[in-house]
Amino acid sequence: MGYIEPAPIKDKENPFESMMSRFKIAAQHLGLNEETYNVLKSPDKQVIINIPITMDDGSIRVFEAYRVIHNNVLGPSKGGVRFDPNVNLDEVKALAAWMTWKCAVVDIPFGGAKGGICCNPRQMSSGEIERLTRAYTTSLFEVFGPDTDIPAPDMGTGQREMAWMMDQYSRNSGMTVNGVVTGKPGVLGGSAGRVEATGRGVMIAALSALEKLKINPYNSTVAVQGFGNVGSHAALLLEERGSKVVAISDISGAYYNKDGINIQQAVAYRLDNHGMLEGFAGAEKMDVADDLLTLPVDVLVPAAMEDVITMRNAEKIKAKLIVEGANGPTSARADDIISEKGIVVVPDILANAGGVTVSYFEWVQNRIGYKWTRERVNRRSDRIMRSAFENVYKTSIKYNVTMRIAAYIVAIDRVAKAYSYRGGF
Ligand code: NAD
Repeated sequence: MGYIEPAPIKDKENPFESMMSRFKIAAQHLGLNEETYNVLKSPDKQVIINIPITMDDGSIRVFEAYRVIHNNVLGPSKGGVRFDPNVNLDEVKALAAWMTWKCAVVDIPFGGAKGGICCNPRQMSSGEIERLTRAYTTSLFEVFGPDTDIPAPDMGTGQREMAWMMDQYSRNSGMTVNGVVTGKPGVLGGSAGRVEATGRGVMIAALSALEKLKINPYNSTVAVQGFGNVGSHAALLLEERGSKVVAISDISGAYYNKDGINIQQAVAYRLDNHGMLEGFAGAEKMDVADDLLTLPVDVLVPAAMEDVITMRNAEKIKAKLIVEGANGPTSARADDIISEKGIVVVPDILANAGGVTVSYFEWVQNRIGYKWTRERVNRRSDRIMRSAFENVYKTSIKYNVTMRIAAYIVAIDRVAKAYSYRGGF
């Protein structure tokens, strides 16, 4: 069949090719028919807009922006909006498809989408960012909606931007529509537990995998790359469950302590130090930050960015388990090396799905106009993460594939089944 040839893969991968190469392998194992393959590989809708904004100095700058809806057969599409100078259509397309698979892996009734604006928020004033966010929301008014397409934060955006998007969409609608975005401030309908949700899901995925590997968490060592939202919460929660976190890192460098780092102290230090670990005294700074990835630990949690485990370092990885907090931290080419070394990988579309799961809960709470307690949110998201993990694990045994390919198999199977019931023209 046409789709079986392997995609041309380079080590610094085009994210769309990287996603497609895994998708192809999973489709092949599933015996997906070519028609469905062709439907699922192509995004449903790709919108490119140019937004003129008056800058603070009176000049007008035009920003290119995107919204890609990959698929919505399972429900309204869901996905973050990225503000970054490197945003491009290929990246947004890949991230949108990943969202389809991620929602399907954890069995929540959402499709996948992603948005982005090519801009550098670090060099813009708050007023400029607000005007850009509001203009983007207005330009995409016909696309967004609580029943159609629901944005969320991603790189360079957070609660502040979500509040502006929700407000702008509501103004355009003539009423308050808080279910149109997730990741909002609590007072506007944001969910309890959303901030730590992704890190919490990483912790559940790590503990579930350690159990399969018969490693007692109390005897386990962990290294976490990236100490932002995902990495810091994953590290805190793993420490709470008995693991010894021996290394953490952020953009300022990597920090190692063989006796275990006090993560609560590291979090407090970072808060007082403009969000940076630089100068943290509870661990020694490593000479080469990337050496964190090749430390002899039980669990490695890449939670910073994409493409950090590649052909260059895959051979040197010593962890027994990799739990992908970040999206796309392992290049498709490194997959084979990692798997040949017997390292278990809990893939991004499963490991970091706790975030979108609680986003789904936020949307549910907004729809019913009722707030859940943090305990209820955590209990339900833990249950979803555990059950998704078990399902992917069983699938990996059934098809004799890695957990990554198994996660794609579970996801593609669900979306393909929904598509076959709904049908096309
Ligand atoms: P963040 O901006 O809060 O944190 C990123 C962290 O990575 C920061 O500590 C930063 O200093 C560090 N970092 C950047 N470059 C680094 C480098 N070269 N080496 C080491 N550290 C580096 O971002 P986040 O929300 O924690 O997201 C991290 C990853 O997780 C991204 O890939 C994101 O797409 C993914 N993700 C996030 C969520 C979420 O809910 N926040 C959900 C799913 C996936």
